[in-house]
Amino acid sequence: LSSKATTSTADFICAPATVAGARSAIAVIRGSGAPGTRGSVFTALANIFLTPAGKCAAELTARVAHYGNISDGDEFIDDVLFFRFDGPASFTGEDSFEIHCHGNPLIVRAILTLLYRHGFRSAEPGEFTRRAYLNGKLGLNAAQAVAEVIEARSQLSLKAAHRLSRGTFRSGLLSLRSSLMNLAADLNAELDFIDEDIAFATLDTKLAILSRVEGETQKLADDAQRFDSIRGGVNIAIVGAPNAGKSSLLNRLLGHERSIVSDIAGTTRDYIEAELEIQGVNVRLFDTAGLREDSGDTIEIIGIERTRELIGRAHICLLIADGSIAPTELETLLPAETPARLLVAVNKCDMLHAEWANRRKDSPDNNSVIYISALTGEGFPALMQAFAAITAELAPQDAVPLSVWQVKLLNEIASLMRSASNLLRDRELPELIAHQVTRAIDCMSELTGEISSEDILGRIFSRFCIGK
Ligand code: GDP
Repeated sequence: LSSKATTSTADFICAPATVAGARSAIAVIRGSGAPGTRGSVFTALANIFLTPAGKCAAELTARVAHYGNISDGDEFIDDVLFFRFDGPASFTGEDSFEIHCHGNPLIVRAILTLLYRHGFRSAEPGEFTRRAYLNGKLGLNAAQAVAEVIEARSQLSLKAAHRLSRGTFRSGLLSLRSSLMNLAADLNAELDFIDEDIAFATLDTKLAILSRVEGETQKLADDAQRFDSIRGGVNIAIVGAPNAGKSSLLNRLLGHERSIVSDIAGTTRDYIEAELEIQGVNVRLFDTAGLREDSGDTIEIIGIERTRELIGRAHICLLIADGSIAPTELETLLPAETPARLLVAVNKCDMLHAEWANRRKDSPDNNSVIYISALTGEGFPALMQAFAAITAELAPQDAVPLSVWQVKLLNEIASLMRSASNLLRDRELPELIAHQVTRAIDCMSELTGEISSEDILGRIFSRFCIGK
């Protein structure tokens, strides 16, 4: 394992560990490096940090908070807390430290500039975690999970990231790998005794192993892909005739938290109206209202196009019907392409039209039609429940967040298992089957980090922010 030529692991690195450029009570700067001919990272700090008793970093005890000053010669920069971690008992496995200074970007920049002048360079994104991995402090999956834990935008994503960091993904794969290794050993032994026609495991046993591995890897890949599609949130497109009560519904959903309204880059008219968390899942509501109300012909066409686009990308389409007027043909309200999941909310149930009231009697609230009032709040708990039921269906409960290359490897393993099973059933030569099994073992080793190439490391660590 080597690191990129331009970024030697012998370098002393430093970076802000807290958000750069933000004001906060405290900011943390971390540094790391293995001792070498230049001494240690602690001796490199000799002219920067001193305790009131005049001690420098190299003289301080590890894992204890030390109060002291950072200064540039005679110029005082900040009073800070200093933490020393001696390798290998540190996150990176190298000698490392944290400086907790006041959370002002000017101070952070001054301290970093000072560190650069004293032999440190700015860390690459993910370099601290990468070093931890290279020094055997973290497995590859656990290293990958660090980024996921930081990036997670909902409880759901956070839980998925924890599954990756706690090693359930890895231990599951290791167990599958070990049964494949036994199978490969059996197949190879059969090769040695090919003339005697001895089988070391029955056909059924072998097929059972292949089918178990196929099933589990396929499930991991499928779940990861499903998870990926809602990682950024479950998208709900709100459609409905003008005056049905879409804005009122949005406002009620949001309470007073309209501050979460945000723009999405891309087209100017394509925006999220609201973002909320429902049972741990990030839900994003897109209002298509403004897109349809213009009367000018071209705008109307553009509006309908955009509405279709929004609905096409939505996981759920929420149709708001106006319950105070006679039902129109619901289908006519819907654009041509309806999404997989449609939820109808009949609004204004506080002044329900007789026809709706009759319908309601015949078929009360169910998973696809719910009666609500944006005015009184009636029906909102049921609406929330319906959202939650749909999101639970969309979100695989035990998924782990995986990258595209990992999903590809898992799919490859599943397909190797299928072809190995076919070869076995066709009584093909053990060596052909062993070949498929061995390739699958290699894929597993790549997934668990037993084999890792620079390419894979690059892909994992490039997703990190600087300072992690
Ligand atoms: P939009 O055009 O679909 O966004 O509809 P609005 O949210 O602007 O609502 C249209 C009108 O219906 C407004 O006058 C609202 O006050 C009223 N309205 C919305 N929801 C309800 C409801 O649940 N009950 C009643 N009685 N009026 C409502």
